[in-house]
Order: sequence, then C-alpha cells, then structure tokens
Amino acid sequence: MIKTINIALIGNPNTGKTSVFNALTGLNQKVGNYPGITVEKKQGICKLNRTIKARILDLPGTYSLNASSMDESVVIELLLNKNDLDFPDVVVLVTDVENLKRNLLLFTQIKDLEIPTVLVINMSDQMKRKGISIDIELLEKQLNTNIVLISTREKTGIDSLKETLINYRNIPTSPILDPLTIDEAYFQSLKHAFPNQSLYKLWLVITQDVNFTKLERQKVPDSADFKTQSQSYLKKLQQRETIKRYQIINKILKETYQVNKEEATDLRSRLDNILIHKFWGYVIFFIILLSIFQAIFDWSSIPMDLIDSTFVQLSEAVNNYLPPGVLTNLIAEGVIPGLGGIVIFIPQIAFLFLFISILEETGYMSRVVFLMDRGLRRYGLNGKSVIPLISGTACAIPAVMATRNIESWKERLITILVVPFTTCSARLPVYLILISLVIPNQRFLGISYQGLTLMGLYFLGFLMAIVSASLMNKILKTSTKSYFVVEMPNYKLPLLKNVGITVWEKTRAFVVEAGRIILAISILLWVMASYGPGENFSNAEDIVKTNAAYENISAAELEIKIASYRLEHSYIGILGKSLEPAIAPLGYDWKIGIALISSFAAREVFVGTLATIYSVGNDSQETIKNKMSAEIRPDGTPLFNLASGISLMLFYAFAMQCMSTLAIVKKETNGWKWPLIQLVAMTFIAYFAALIVYQILK
Ligand code: GDP
Ligand code: MG
Repeated sequence: MIKTINIALIGNPNTGKTSVFNALTGLNQKVGNYPGITVEKKQGICKLNRTIKARILDLPGTYSLNASSMDESVVIELLLNKNDLDFPDVVVLVTDVENLKRNLLLFTQIKDLEIPTVLVINMSDQMKRKGISIDIELLEKQLNTNIVLISTREKTGIDSLKETLINYRNIPTSPILDPLTIDEAYFQSLKHAFPNQSLYKLWLVITQDVNFTKLERQKVPDSADFKTQSQSYLKKLQQRETIKRYQIINKILKETYQVNKEEATDLRSRLDNILIHKFWGYVIFFIILLSIFQAIFDWSSIPMDLIDSTFVQLSEAVNNYLPPGVLTNLIAEGVIPGLGGIVIFIPQIAFLFLFISILEETGYMSRVVFLMDRGLRRYGLNGKSVIPLISGTACAIPAVMATRNIESWKERLITILVVPFTTCSARLPVYLILISLVIPNQRFLGISYQGLTLMGLYFLGFLMAIVSASLMNKILKTSTKSYFVVEMPNYKLPLLKNVGITVWEKTRAFVVEAGRIILAISILLWVMASYGPGENFSNAEDIVKTNAAYENISAAELEIKIASYRLEHSYIGILGKSLEPAIAPLGYDWKIGIALISSFAAREVFVGTLATIYSVGNDSQETIKNKMSAEIRPDGTPLFNLASGISLMLFYAFAMQCMSTLAIVKKETNGWKWPLIQLVAMTFIAYFAALIVYQILK
C-alpha cells in the first residue's frame, strides 16, 4: 500500500523554498493558480520511499501569519482550514541560515498551530564564509522540533530531509508561546467562550478578519464578540505577540547561533556600492538591459527563421502527400500555420526567461527593483515592471508572462494591461510600409522624417503605457495593502537547475495554455478567409477566368487574381465590407477592414493580406508598396495619404489586435474579464485616436 501525505513548503521570501521544491520534485511538478486570485500554486510529487509518496505544495513567501498581502493570506487560509484538500500533514519551514532570527518568527507561529513542522535551515554553504556556527542539537531541543541543515546549491542534506519526512510521526507538535502571556484577561475570556478550540487558532482567525475584512470564514464559531474590541487594541495585542516571540527567539539563538564577524567577507557591500549607485547603478542596468534585448533579438532570429521555414515546408509536404480535399486544406493552411504561430514565440520566451531567472537568481533583480521602484510607483507600477515594459518591445507575450514576479496584484495587473501599448516587433513591418508610403523621404537638418516618425511611434507606445497606468492606478481599488519590503538578498551564482526549470515551466505554460486559444482562433480566421457564401465564392475561378479584362495575363497572375477575388467574397471579406461604414470615418476602405481583421492573427499579416487583395487590377509584378500607393478612392485621390496613413499607424499603435496577447492575458489573470476589458478599451482608444487624427488631417 502506498500512502500519500501532504507537505507544505512555507517560509519567508527568498529562503529557497522553490529550490527545495525543485530538489524534491524535479520536473514532477504542476503549476496552476489559486481559484479566483492570481497567486501561483505549485504542486509536485516526491516519492519518499516505497510506501510513502508526498504531495508537495510550494507556497508563496510569507513573513508571518499576520497577513498583509494576498500571497500571505493563501498560507493562512490553508493552515486554518483542516478540511482543505491540501492541508499539510507536515510543514517544511524553509529558512535561510543568514536570516534565521527573522525566519523563526513564522516558525514559532506555525508551531503554535500544533502542526508537525520540520525546520529546514537552507544555504548552509554560506556558513563558513559568513562565520556562522549553529548548535543544531541544542536548537532542536529548544525549539522542540526536527531540524535539517541543507544546501540546495551544494545538494547536501536533501536525503536527511527525506528521512525526517518519512518519520514525520515523530515530530513533536507542542506549541512555543502560551497566548495567555500576551494578554491574560483577553485570552482567558476567549478560552472561556470557546473551551474546545485551540486558543492560538482562534486568535489568528480574529486578527485575520481584522486584516482582511473581505475574506469569508466560517470554520470557527462566531468570534464576533471578540472583535468588538477596537481594532487598534487588537493591533496592539498583535504587536505584543510579535515582541514576545522575538524575546523567545533571541534567548534561544543566543545560546545556539554564533556569528564570527571577522570571518565574513564583504563583497556584498562593495558590489552594492556600484550596483545601486545613483548614477552608475542606472548606467549599468541599462547596459545589461540593452545587452539582454540585443541577445534576445540576435539569438532568437535564427531559431525563429528555422521554425518559420519548417512549418512552411510542413504545409507543403501535407499538400503534396495527402489527397486534395477539405481535410488536407484544413491541416495545411489552418492547423499547421496555427501551430507555427505558437511555436514561433518559443525562442523569445525561452531566452527572456533565461535572462530574467539569472538576474533573479544572482540577487541582482532586487537591486534593479530598488533602483526603479520610486520612479515607477508614482504611476501605479512597480520596480519590477521595468522588465515587462521593455520586453514588450520584442513581444507582449513573454512580457506579460514576466509580470509574475510582481507581488502586488494591483501593480501586476496594471503592468499586464499596459504592456501591449509598447511597440512590439510585429508592428514594425506595418509601420515601415506605411511610413515609406505616406511620410516624405526628406531630411531636416540631417534628421530624416521617416526615422523621426518611427521613433515617435515607439515613444508614443511608452507614453501611452505610462499614462494609462497612472489612470488605472486611480481607478482600480486596492484590496491588499502593498508593502514595499526592500529585501536585498546576497549575491550568488545562479543555480542552473532553478534557471532550467523556470525556462521550461514558462515555455510549457505558454504552449499548453495560450497555445490552445491561439490555435483555435487561427483556425477560425482561416475558415473565414477560405470559405464564403454563394456563387461568387464557389465559382470564383470561373468568374475570374471568363473576365474579358484578364484574357492576356499569365497563368501565375491569373492564380493571384482568383485568390484575391475569393478573399473578397469570403466570410472575412464580407465582414470587412460590413465594417466599412464604421471605419470609413478613419479613412479606411473595406480592403483595409479585411486586413485589420486578419491582423488579429498577428499584426504583421496586415501587409500580406493587403498584398493579396490589391492584386486586383494591378500588374502583379509590382511590389506591395507600389500597389498600395496606386490605390485610389472613388474620388480619384490616393487611398494612402498622410491623413489615412497616420490614422492607420495610430490605430496599430493603440489597438489590442493580437489574439496571442489576449490568450496569455487570459491565462495570467485567470479569466476572460481582464483580456476583454483590455480588448474593448484599447480598440476604443485606437478608434478615437485614429478618427480624430484623420478628421483633422483630412
Ligand atoms: P523562494 O523565494 O523561497 O522560493 O527561494 P528560491 O528557491 O527562489 O531561492 C532564492 C535564492 O536563493 C535563489 O537565488 C537561489 O539560487 C538561492 N538559493 C537557494 N538555495 C540555496 C543554497 O542552498 N545556497 C545558496 N547559496 N543559495 C541558495
Ligand atoms: Mg519561490
């Protein structure tokens, strides 16, 4: 018989919970979300021995059981609810050997809930360098628990942790602090009212409600009477509790924990002097950032080209080897390009997360956050929003995924919502062709108007992101208090296993979860472009062939004419036409309408779609640009002029026209609400910006 036990990994942020989790579970893990909120839930399986299997839960970092954030409340909710499916048989409390004192506060609180708790002291590899020595045996006795000294970096102690977990029944569960010592009168009356309840648990429920009025809880009999005490009184008791706990911890550590200061080397403060320097700190950060994005662009372009051509070849192969028919078309033109549209993002996502997790692992990211936080906080963003905002210039998808490190839900949400305004690389081909069409190729004082326009569009993207962030900062109510804890971990060499798992995890999550939506929409768009109602569509070939005007053109050109005639009469073409009244005031015709709709698959499709449509009535030897500039309106003026060109550029700058971004926002926010709001709001902004500009310039 195999027995399954629940193990919860709990500890302060950055103590190595995830590293312990990775060491125990390897790739045997699953990442999801807690229902309703966007806190990551990581679960994994570890086989401890032949008869015991452990379900391990990697919980968000928390400083104490007095919750101040959504993340922390997840931990308390779990520990207070014995009926929760994840309720732990054992808690593994992970601490960092250098910050043991602060870490033990949480330990004593959990211990007082009388759940078997193993104290893991991690990062033991740092002890020698920092001159730390610990009397483990004595500490075990004083804290009345089992202690395991480990280093996930040097892979020591993991086996004895497993041993301890196997024998989890032997872990003592006696509490450490008697609540009566906090305030005798108050706790006596509490005890009197609920004689059968654990006093400390009751106290947590009461204070929890003080901190989190919104959370519902009914596990404990109505404790309302005890909340009639003024909130400030309860806060005072809470503070007294913390002080009591530290008194106990200090006394215990005095006997068991020694630091020999002379042995400690001071690389850290020397590095900090430069890396968070008021001037050099920023310079170094921007150099690092620049190199990262340079590398992402350079390194991804080769695999991306390869993926592109592989999928084209795959489509061709399917066309060549499968019997012609609807199914073959669906596979070759719908499914395979759709899959290609997912896989093509993998290199950028993988490289971005490779770099991000290295920055995090080394401890440098905390310095960046420290540097950038003040400036960005004003707009409702966070120091950690820098990476997403700048990654957005490559692609919004990895950028949205990179917001995961932002602890405050509000700041994270705002970052997710504004990131798609930054100019991603898919907009570039659209901008380039429009600029070359409508902006004169002239210079003023050596500055080219075309270059200036392009730069302006990038700038506009960032500006829009910042402006809408500060707007949303005003609109969105905070449900959690966002503390900025300046936690500066030590500098470390990155743990390759952690880096590898992050990269794997992010890539897999994108492919599996966002990929499904992307594939579904690509197939839908393909169906809409390849099918149409009525004669015009089904007989497109005959209609074009019998058209007298096309008598003398070559077979190849005829093919193109047919394709464009079909597109015009397909469902997407009809949709484009019915869109015309709405987009005419922006200066667009139905052909641009079709391009706008198909841009939803990927913005760069704009150019290709127009190329297909504009083959009508033109010489197919022409370049797309020439075909576009030859388009005229019914009144004889060119379709693409300064007014309509700029209107289109603004539309592309602001509109949320990317199904892949919507798919990833849906995944990251855990529902359709925010992606839909984002879609509607951005389309609205884009529409009116384009409308106003067109009407003025016209
Ligand atoms: P979490 O926030 O508690 O999940 O902590 P992580 O597992 O993400 O680790 C935080 C940092 O500590 C990372 O930079 C890890 O590389 C580092 N770390 C984890 N375990 C060890 C260890 O045993 N020794 C050292 N020196 N660093 C470690
Ligand atoms: Mg973690």
